[in-house]
Amino acid sequence: MPFTFANVEDRACLVHGDKFYDLNRISHDAIATDPVDALADIDALHEINTNLTNIDPDGSLAEVKLGPPAPRPRNSFGVGLNYKDHAEESKMDLPESPVVFSKFPSCIAGPFDDVHLRATRGDYEAELVVVIGRVARDVPTEDAWSFVAGLTVGQDISDRKLQLGARPPQFGLGKSRDTYGPTGPLLVSPDSFPDADDLHITCAINGEPRQDARTSALIFDVPFLVSYLSEVMTLLPGDLIFTGTPSGVGMPDKRFLVAGDVITTTVEGIGTMVNTCR
Ligand code: ZN
Repeated sequence: MPFTFANVEDRACLVHGDKFYDLNRISHDAIATDPVDALADIDALHEINTNLTNIDPDGSLAEVKLGPPAPRPRNSFGVGLNYKDHAEESKMDLPESPVVFSKFPSCIAGPFDDVHLRATRGDYEAELVVVIGRVARDVPTEDAWSFVAGLTVGQDISDRKLQLGARPPQFGLGKSRDTYGPTGPLLVSPDSFPDADDLHITCAINGEPRQDARTSALIFDVPFLVSYLSEVMTLLPGDLIFTGTPSGVGMPDKRFLVAGDVITTTVEGIGTMVNTCR
């Protein structure tokens, strides 16, 4: 049974329509309160969702501020140049193996949090984000989706000066300033989608469309990335994989973010994040 999950005031919740249900309460303490700990229980999350309509909700989403679905991942990865058109606009060769960097967990922010710009070359990157739901080690691609708790929306906000000013470029720091990793608003289990490998993703700045793509255009798709990373290191529930951004980022035309800019990021079937730059 598909489920939709949210972080409501740092508590793991299931979502049905616009109502949320505190998982610890409705599971009678069986499921952890902490969102990352709760995401280790994906079999229970799939099961418990079948009974939601018979239970009183804790409130409605409109009344609360949502946090990042996985607020404290132990590892958080980014994938560079994972759409052909973005590699071209970046004037980079297409990668033969994934270009993976650490988006340090301290940068993870909520779906409606402000982005605190700390440099003049802040840039946006709309991305589909994978949230791991089982301990994953040497996972074959054909099994990879079963290790995914769900998908969420992300922004891989980038400080291009920090990222590209070093030789060779260092992605880790340039992608990891505080608040540079908004994620949310919801985490949606993979079985919720008719085709989880083909989702529409868009980004607008101050209402002006900048990015518009489908995740079926990923060079290295979700199963490949989960399998590839799990061969290098053990992936844990709550770990994040920012899967890469399509073309339309600000850098080629030097349209960098400035204070007051509103970044609107949407993935079909998951929802929309709105983040304002300060
Ligand atoms: Zn990125």
